[in-house]
Amino acid sequence: MAKKTIQDINEKIRKGEAVVYTARELKEMIRNGERVTTDTVDAVTTGTCGIMSGTAAILTVPVAEKGVFAKAESIWINGVAAHPGPCPNENLGIVDLILYGTSYASHEYGGGQIFRDLVAGKEVEVRVEANGNIFENHITLDDCSYAKLMTTRGAFKNYVSFLNDATGSCDTIFSVTGLRGPRKEIAISGCGEINPIENDPSLVSIGMGTRILVNGGVGYVIGQGTRSTPGKPNMSVIADLKGMQAQYMGGFKTSKTPEVITSIAVPIPVTEQTLPHLGVLDGDVSLPVGEIHDRVPFTAGTYADVWQGTDHVITYASELCTPCKVCTVERDCPTAAFTMKGGIDKRRCYNCGACVFMCPGGAFKGSLGSMDIEGTRVPITLRQSNRARADELCESLKERILAREFYLSEKVGSI
Ligand code: SF4
Ligand code: SF4
Repeated sequence: MAKKTIQDINEKIRKGEAVVYTARELKEMIRNGERVTTDTVDAVTTGTCGIMSGTAAILTVPVAEKGVFAKAESIWINGVAAHPGPCPNENLGIVDLILYGTSYASHEYGGGQIFRDLVAGKEVEVRVEANGNIFENHITLDDCSYAKLMTTRGAFKNYVSFLNDATGSCDTIFSVTGLRGPRKEIAISGCGEINPIENDPSLVSIGMGTRILVNGGVGYVIGQGTRSTPGKPNMSVIADLKGMQAQYMGGFKTSKTPEVITSIAVPIPVTEQTLPHLGVLDGDVSLPVGEIHDRVPFTAGTYADVWQGTDHVITYASELCTPCKVCTVERDCPTAAFTMKGGIDKRRCYNCGACVFMCPGGAFKGSLGSMDIEGTRVPITLRQSNRARADELCESLKERILAREFYLSEKVGSI
C-alpha cells in the first residue's frame, strides 16, 4: 500500500474528511488505550506557550515628513531602546528598526509588553534622535508598513528547571520575586508532551518553510534556532505581527529583567514516519533540574511532575481575600493580570502560579506539583510555560484546518 503523504492529508482537508486532533486530545486517547493509526488520524496540532527570550520585532515606523532628518541615530518605543537599521532610510522620515523582546525601560515594561500593546491596537510613542535633535510620533501597528515578529530560538525540546542551593533569595529571570534557597522551590519551563519538537524529535515533518501559527497568526519555520543541536533542537520562526492575537504573547516581569512570552503551534501530519513519536507522554519527557548559579543539571524528574494531577489554570476566590495593606499579587503579578477591582484577567493571566504563593490569604487556587530532589519533595512555585494557553492555540489551529483555512505544508529544507 502506498505511504500516506502530506498531499493525501491536504486532499482530505479539502474534501472535509480529515481527522484532526489536538495533542491534548491525542494523549487522552493514548492514555485511554485507544489505538491510533495512520488510517484513523490525519494530523495532530502540537504547541507551546513560553518565555522565548530570542524574540524580536522588525518594524518600519513613520516618524516625520521626508527630508526632516537624514538618518536615525537612536530610537525608542515607549521609552524602550530599539536598534535603528540595518537600512538607513536616508531622508525618508521612516525608520527600519529591530526591537528585542528583552529590551526594557523599567522592571515593569519592555519589548514583550510593546509587542502585545501593538497587537492589541494600542498607540505607542516613537522617539528618534538624529543630528542632535529629537523627533516624536505616535503610531499604531496599522501605521507600520512592515511589522514582523521573529523568534531566533523557540519551542525548545530540552528545558532545565532551576532551584537555588544557597541560603537566601536569588534574583534571576527564572523567578518573579527571587528564587528562595536552599532548595525551597523550583521554577519550571516547558509544555511537555504537547511541545511540537517532542512530537517530532527527529524533525521529520518540521523544517524550513513549515507553515505554523505564531501568537495566533500564520507564520513559518525559517531554520534552526540559536544553540540548536541534534540532541537539543529548537527552531527559529517568523510571522506578521498584524495577524497575531494579544492573549498568546506579551511581557513577563521577573526579579531580574523583563522577559517575552511567545506561543507556537505546529501541525504534525500523521504518517508512517511521524506516528512512532506521537505517543510521547509527560512521564516520558525528562525535566532536568539545575542549580541557578552554575546552571548545571544534577538530577531530573519528568513533565508528569508538572502537568499530571496538577491544575493548569489558576483561579481566584475573592471571598478569601483578607485584604492586605498592599496587595502583593496586584503589585508583582508578572503579566499584570490581577487587580483587586477586576480579579484575574483571563486573557492576560499566564497561569504561572506565582500568586498562589504570594497571597497570604490563600485566595489563589492551583496545584503546581513538586519534584523529587535527592529524596526530598520540593514544590514547584513558578511555571514559565502556560500549558492551558498552548492547548488553546492547538485548538485554534485544529479549527482552522477543519475549516479549510489552513493546509499542511511540505518542508523545503531540513533544520
Ligand atoms: S495578597 Fe491576597 S489576601 Fe492580600 S490583598 Fe491581595 S488577594 Fe487579598
Ligand atoms: S497565575 Fe497569578 S501571578 Fe501568574 S499571571 Fe495569573 S494572576 Fe498573575
